[in-house]
Amino acid sequence: MSGIRPTGFLHLGNYFGAVRNYVRMQEEFECFFMVADLHSLTTHPDTKELKENVYRVLSENIACGLDPDKAALYCQSHVPETTELYLFLNMLAYKGELEKTVTFKEKVRQHPDNVNAGLLTYPVLQTADIILHRALYVPVGKDQEQHLEMARNFANRFNHRYGDVFPEPQAFNFGDELVKVPSLDGTGKMSKSENQNATLYLSDSDELIRSKVKKAKTDSGPTEPDSVKPDIIENVFSLLKLVSAAEVVEKYESDFNNCTIRYGDLKQQLGEDMVKFIAPIREKAAAIRNNPAYLKEVMEKGAEKARQSAQATMKLVKEAMGLNYY
Ligand code: AMP
Repeated sequence: MSGIRPTGFLHLGNYFGAVRNYVRMQEEFECFFMVADLHSLTTHPDTKELKENVYRVLSENIACGLDPDKAALYCQSHVPETTELYLFLNMLAYKGELEKTVTFKEKVRQHPDNVNAGLLTYPVLQTADIILHRALYVPVGKDQEQHLEMARNFANRFNHRYGDVFPEPQAFNFGDELVKVPSLDGTGKMSKSENQNATLYLSDSDELIRSKVKKAKTDSGPTEPDSVKPDIIENVFSLLKLVSAAEVVEKYESDFNNCTIRYGDLKQQLGEDMVKFIAPIREKAAAIRNNPAYLKEVMEKGAEKARQSAQATMKLVKEAMGLNYY
């Protein structure tokens, strides 16, 4: 089970941190993937663009390879059981632990005039999303590690108080570690709504991709053989490893190690490989977005499947809590 907020265009971080794993998981597991529209309201209260964003994020997920016949693809607000479970879990979540959450503190810094209760209880809603399907694996990027730990705490707390209903959800990635895709300016991670010039979006034109990559931060190059790469150079190499062929990565690794590397060439190559990677997804997503009837059908089918699973869980929850009066 996993979700993506409809707060902007999908980017390379979403792809490699999350969606790539969704696509592989749908072959092996029973999967639920949702567009987290309720979560987006915590930071984006203006709903003028919400519908368009929901449809686009869905199109982009399908363009990346998600198959509505294999996984349930739905929109969070179409499964109202989510908010019912969220309310129950809120009684088990404490103000102190919520205030300590790193993402909450970050959001408070970014939007000091909109520190709402939904923002504070974001990890509780996210827990409800996950355990509503009694999910075991949650494909997410590294930025979500702490939220998953909180989800395990809340699930365990429920089990302890009312009886065993929920398994412990684990963050999941097919590689060894959770992924963080760095921004091109080396100051943080790629993101939907911040740092837009240093983020590669799956909707960027070929020209925009080339120009963003060209501006990626580098330095004057290594002066001693086999030196340790500074963070900004490590970042460029980690992007290269995501989209370029192994021989290309090896060539630039060895150029770096013997101090002959030319960052202009490296970025030119990276730009071309990024274009090759992103262009087909962009084109496919645009074609899917042009078919709203199909997207509506996908959402309806996904919501039906998700609600069946949610209702089965809520029956167990209410029995365990003693909320079954008739
Ligand atoms: P969000 O864009 O915050 O709704 O996140 C959707 C999914 O993408 C979550 O699983 C995140 O962990 C993942 N994600 C977002 N940004 C990155 C990034 N720069 N690197 C890796 N994963 C990311």
